[in-house]
Amino acid sequence: MNLKRPVAVADTAGDMTTIRTTCPRCGEVDMGPESILLQVVRGGREGTYRFTCPTCMDDVEKRADRKIVALLVSAGVDVASRGSTLTEELFDQEPYVDPRPPLPDAPAFTIDDLIDFHFKLQDDALVAEFLAKQ
Ligand SMILES: [Zn+2]
Repeated sequence: MNLKRPVAVADTAGDMTTIRTTCPRCGEVDMGPESILLQVVRGGREGTYRFTCPTCMDDVEKRADRKIVALLVSAGVDVASRGSTLTEELFDQEPYVDPRPPLPDAPAFTIDDLIDFHFKLQDDALVAEFLAKQ
């Protein structure tokens, strides 16, 4: 994943949702969802979004892939679309975007590990040895 690619980011930490996007002239700009107009095609899989840059007042239009469309919609941006079931459709396909980083790539704890641990706990000498190290 190319992290340098400009993407819209929804910040829902505060009371008001702000959307960060980029203006070709000004770079990163923040605005509320009401400042953005999203138009989608192909059942919400892709589209374009437009906004008036709050800094230079230029009209900016950008392409939005499905992820950006879902993100903008979840941030409260109005969608200009012919289909009324768009939101439903969108969230059926991608119900929840987890903002947390993925779990570390550790092996899963299996039933075999549990049985192994169970027998280790029954081994008094092993438990004593383990506790002695603490
Ligand atoms: Zn600008």
